[in-house]
Amino acid sequence: MTASAETSTQPAADSGPRQMDTARVAELYRQLLTELGEDPGRDGLLGTPARVAAWWSEFLDYDPGATAAVFEYEPSGGSHLVVVGGITVWSLCEHHLLPMRLTVTIGYCPRDQVLGLSKFARIAHAHAHRLQLQERFTDGVAEDVITAAGSGDVGVVAEGEHLCMSMRGVREQQARTTSTSLAGRLHDEPGLASQLLTLARSPR
Ligand code: ZN
Repeated sequence: MTASAETSTQPAADSGPRQMDTARVAELYRQLLTELGEDPGRDGLLGTPARVAAWWSEFLDYDPGATAAVFEYEPSGGSHLVVVGGITVWSLCEHHLLPMRLTVTIGYCPRDQVLGLSKFARIAHAHAHRLQLQERFTDGVAEDVITAAGSGDVGVVAEGEHLCMSMRGVREQQARTTSTSLAGRLHDEPGLASQLLTLARSPR
């Protein structure tokens, strides 16, 4: 695996499901409002379908920028864990189409290069701007960090707050869902994994 490998941000060319007809989506929202017993012609709702359609377009077409800039790293011996925490992204739960806020902590053991720190956030954003499941988000971020950093020793911890849990269903205001994706030494060495989890849970 080389550091120059492309990460999995969506290429513009073959973005089939990503191509959105904004006018059509606005029309569907107009119909939905009617079905919900509203009058889409009243003042407060007049611009709503177009506004919501524009929001969907912005959400799905979000461009997180390049994710694979790599810096050289000179190992000084011993195990070395680089942790980037406090990355907050918003995504949409694919089961309920309601927002989830994910706080992400990423750790990895650099081999011969170090990934630029801002790139971690970009990888997280790239996976957040689509309909998601928290577990798939966590695994996807881990896979991209493995590719971009050229190291198989990667751990990702995501703490999620799901509106589908806090405003419907169990209405559990404080519910937090933690998901982890551990690979290589982060998977095999409990010491490294617990170091990552401790850092992920420490207050910032
Ligand atoms: Zn949900």
